[in-house]
Amino acid sequence: ARAQTGPRIALHDASATPDQTSTFRLHNDLHRAVDRGELAAFFQPQVTAQGAAIKGFEALMRWRHPTLGLVSPAKFIPLAEDNGQIVRMGAWMLQEACQQAVRWQATHTTPLRVAVNLSLRQFGDPHLARHVQQALDSTGLPPEQLELEITEGTAMLDMQHTLNLLRQFKAMGLKLAIDDFGTGYSSLAYLKRFPLDVLKIDQSFVRQICTDRDDRVIAGAIISLAHSLGLSVIAEGVETAEQHALLEEMGCEEIQGYLHGKPMPAEEVAGWLSSRTT
Ligand code: C2E
Ligand code: CA
Ligand code: CA
Ligand code: CA
Repeated sequence: ARAQTGPRIALHDASATPDQTSTFRLHNDLHRAVDRGELAAFFQPQVTAQGAAIKGFEALMRWRHPTLGLVSPAKFIPLAEDNGQIVRMGAWMLQEACQQAVRWQATHTTPLRVAVNLSLRQFGDPHLARHVQQALDSTGLPPEQLELEITEGTAMLDMQHTLNLLRQFKAMGLKLAIDDFGTGYSSLAYLKRFPLDVLKIDQSFVRQICTDRDDRVIAGAIISLAHSLGLSVIAEGVETAEQHALLEEMGCEEIQGYLHGKPMPAEEVAGWLSSRTT
């Protein structure tokens, strides 16, 4: 979808479909979304497979469009990636996620981690490491409580650049995760070369894990591969207790999904945390 956003075609074309028109409009409106405070960070819990203790949250971006309402990141992230706004939006997200994570600590005694997604374009931005450092410095979040999620596609685009950047992040004390593992353009060689901490099993393997033998075999292979390389595993898209139980039995360390909590606005996190610990 990323390659076919071509909004300029829709501009003076009376026959443009409603979808093309709204894509063009979103493209334009994105330029002002950060300045107008229309972006929001939502947070989805990540819990231990054993005992479902809270370990942290993944930060997920939302756009409250003034007239269109809540726009899905599946729709606006590719546009922002395309027009370059993702770099500013991503810097905003890093700041916001670290800020919120510091707030949780006011009422929660064990350290909670926040995981932030990095897009391809952000990863190529020469100022990325500085944006990350600024977010940590200005909020005071301990670096080991910030995890960065990148996809295989991002990691593989320029191996030397990736290696340099990931080493820099490790030296800063961050945690590093590969998102959507197994769905992209993967080379197992990079798993050994890159200083990673976590593999995220993509939800496409989790969805039918209880009924589809192939999905179960793939998830099992990902878990044993990760463990033999010293990485831990989190499964995403876990919606049922049966999926959770199976993944726990297979040795997966952490679970994320609607079963334990949907992404929630920042204002709801403190209440969610206290409702679980009492
Ligand atoms: P992702 O990073 O793979 O995030 C997981 C997506 O799965 C989220 O969708 C989440 O709401 C959804 N999800 C979580 N648990 C379940 C479940 O149990 N069942 C189902 N069906 N879905 C579940 P969301 O929030 O719509 O985000 C979609 C994608 O947009 C993300 O996929 C990520 O690629 C991108 N995205 C979101 N926020 C950011 C951001 O701040 N920066 C960047 N670069 N990308 C982002
Ligand atoms: Ca993610
Ligand atoms: Ca994912
Ligand atoms: Ca995904």
